[in-house]
Formats: sequence, structure tokens, C-alpha cells
Amino acid sequence: MKLEGRIAIITGGGSGIGHEACKLFAGEGATVIVADRDLEAAQRVAAEIAGQGGKAVAHRVDVSKEAEIEAMIVRTVADHGRLDILVNNAGYGIAGTVVETSEADWNALMSVNVNGVFLGCKHAIPVMEKQGGGAIVNTASAVANVGIHGRAAYVASKGAVAALTRAMATDHVEANIRINAVAPGTIESPYFTKILSGPDGAELRRGLEERQAMDRLGRPVEIAQAMLWLASDDASFCTGSVMVVDGGWTARGDRKP
Ligand code: NAD
Repeated sequence: MKLEGRIAIITGGGSGIGHEACKLFAGEGATVIVADRDLEAAQRVAAEIAGQGGKAVAHRVDVSKEAEIEAMIVRTVADHGRLDILVNNAGYGIAGTVVETSEADWNALMSVNVNGVFLGCKHAIPVMEKQGGGAIVNTASAVANVGIHGRAAYVASKGAVAALTRAMATDHVEANIRINAVAPGTIESPYFTKILSGPDGAELRRGLEERQAMDRLGRPVEIAQAMLWLASDDASFCTGSVMVVDGGWTARGDRKP
């Protein structure tokens, strides 16, 4: 029980990586606030956790809206007395080079992927500071470290999450708040399953698998395990790190022999 008695908010908890993180954290004794824009999805995850004997509540939030983030954190402290862990995981991707990306699509993506992390931290850190510490885990991406084609806005947003993680870790280390990020490779979450079930799905899957060092895509739970480690006391000397969990994809500098 690595998180016994801890109160944890996980954004994007209704699906994929966030869903697995909610289950793992609750399984380790945390009370989990399953926070998602899709309330029904969050409620399904909270019910699943309750069915397994864990503690979870669903909360609807759009992480791009400061008032909603602030209200969620105020409510969490009112209901549970504290906030020990925040996982800023909600996010999405769009395709396109910069030339192909509209200003509206760019701004919308940044408002979730980057502002969502900024706003979550802005409102959680003072609470954690007051209570003597806490742990924050942000979801970046392996593309924070390498360029990939046709996803300019997404790559930029995840680079910003990695950089912001390092900056905030430096600013708040004395308040005993550890701030880290995970950088997943290609993970078969519902988001990717939908893309891979399209007309060009088989070819796309082959291309994605070929670029891996391991011959497969990752599973959401394999990212959630890294989040759990970073959020737990096992990672007590770890802050400002961006942990790559990508099956060796970005470590490779060549094509497969
Ligand atoms: P997913 O689509 O399965 O889950 C994302 C969840 O976030 C959904 O439940 C969605 O409703 C929620 N969400 C989206 N926008 C939101 C908002 N504005 N406010 C609140 N909730 C919102 O996706 P996933 O693959 O599990 O992705 C989770 C995170 O991991 C994202 O930040 C994504 O960019 C990142 N990531 C995913 C992969 C991958 O290959 N799947 C790789 C690297 C990074």
C-alpha cells in the first residue's frame, strides 16, 4: 500500500493511461478523484474502482478552464482535507505541420496540453506547500525529445510540458513538492485504437511497430506504473525528471537491421 491515506487527483482519468493510473493508485490505498471532461467516463472508472473495494469519486473538469480547475482543488480539500498527489494527464493530439495547423487548433491544443498542466500546478502547489509537501506527475511524451513529422503542435505542446516540469521542480523543491513527468512512447490507448481501426490502420500499425526497439506498442498500464513510482515515496530523490517509457523507441538512432 504505497499510497495509503493519500488524496490524488488524476486528470484525463476517464480513459487510457489515466484510467489505468486511477486503478493502480486506488489499489495502493489512495482516494482518487477521477477528473475528466467526460463525466460519464469518470463515473464508470470511479464505479469500477469502488467495485474492486477502492476509494474514488468522479469529477467533471475541463483542464483548460482556470475556474474549473480551481473549483476542483477547493472541493477536494473541502471534502478530503488535503491534496497529496496531482497527475496532470489530460491531453490530446492533432495532425499537421505548422503550415497546415490553424491558429484556432493550435490555441485549443495548447490550452489543454500546456495550460492544463500550468493551471493544475498553479492551484495545487499552494495547497501542497501549506500542508508540507506533495507530488505532481505531468504527462509529456517521448516526442518532447525527438521530432516526428506531421504533428508540430502536439510535439511543441509536449516539449513545453517537459520544460515546465523542470522549471517548476526547481522553483518548489524547498516546499518539499516533487514535480516530475512521464514521457510515453506509442501507447495503445483508446485514442490510438480508434486511429488504428481506420482504413489505413494496418499500414499505420506496421509503421509504428517498425520504429520501436521492442516489437510492439506500449500498454496504458505500463505508463501508469511509472506514474505510480514517481508519485510514491519510492521516488523520494526524484524531482524535475522526465521519465521516458517508450520501449526503446527514442534510444534507437538507426533503422532495425
Ligand atoms: P485518451 O484519449 O484515452 O484519454 C484522454 C482523456 O483525457 C479522455 O478521457 C478525455 O476525455 C480527457 N480529456 C481530454 N481533454 C480534456 C480536458 N480539456 N479536460 C479534462 N479532460 C480531458 O488518451 P491517452 O492516450 O490515455 O492520453 C493520456 C495522455 O497521454 C495525454 O496527455 C496524451 O497526450 C499523452 N500521451 C499519449 C500517448 C499515446 O501513445 N497514447 C503517447 C504519449 C503521450
